[in-house]
Amino acid sequence: MWVLSVNSLSKNFGGIKAIRNINVNIEKGNIIGLIGPNGAGKTTFFNLLTGIYSPTSGEITYNLDSKIRTKDLKPHKIVHYGIARTFQNIRLFKDMTVLDNILIGFHNRFKYGIGSAFLRLPSYYKAEANAYENALELLEKFNLLDKKDELAKNLPYGDQRKLEIARALAAKPKLLLLDEPAAGMNPIETKELRELINWIREAFDLTIILIEHDMSLVMNICDEVLVFDYGNLVAQGTPEEIQNDERVIKAYLGEEVEEC
Ligand code: ATP
Repeated sequence: MWVLSVNSLSKNFGGIKAIRNINVNIEKGNIIGLIGPNGAGKTTFFNLLTGIYSPTSGEITYNLDSKIRTKDLKPHKIVHYGIARTFQNIRLFKDMTVLDNILIGFHNRFKYGIGSAFLRLPSYYKAEANAYENALELLEKFNLLDKKDELAKNLPYGDQRKLEIARALAAKPKLLLLDEPAAGMNPIETKELRELINWIREAFDLTIILIEHDMSLVMNICDEVLVFDYGNLVAQGTPEEIQNDERVIKAYLGEEVEEC
């Protein structure tokens, strides 16, 4: 079953064709790697998928809880559709604690209304208590529980990236978009991240699309890899197929293939 279908998608910035006529379907439960050289259009693709940019032409359709089409995509609505995202430049509330960063993620999906919160009705307290318990569980899974009272800005870089993913999960997404989750991580942190991503796919029944330059991570966890170049989708296949694709090796992978 597909969860995302992209049809003839293009995005121009003035004369720059950042995304050129992309067609792709993403299957439920897969981990998809999005790779390609700098400027290939990967982040623009994420920004289109999350409604930050509107396409110059083409269609994006999600098949999540309900069918969502391009015209419905607005950044502030994305979370409610079951789509969560992390950013290349980590976006945390840096002067808040680790725990509060997660609790904010939970608030994005609270069902009680503003009136209930204002009047402090039982539904408000129940939701708050649940969020607290769930936040602690999530932090434990991410090995961040002993840092729950630290300010986000004081965490090492690798932990900040993990915290951003944990916060995204608090919104209970069906589709998770990760923009360079291993950037700035050392090899040990990257290996831990690999296990974490595999675990969250199972535990949260997720579909994951990740942009990543770390080929060992991509080739080890992805079910399918998409290769972008100059805004085009130039190759699509299993990690093995991609690593043996002459065109991809020439354009992008080069020597890196040997190291995987
Ligand atoms: P990287 O790996 O370096 O993050 P990328 O594959 O994510 O690169 P994009 O950031 O999507 O590539 O950029 C694709 C092209 O679109 C580039 O030529 C970039 O300069 C251009 N571009 C992206 N956003 C804008 C914008 N808001 N205005 C003008 N040009 C843009």
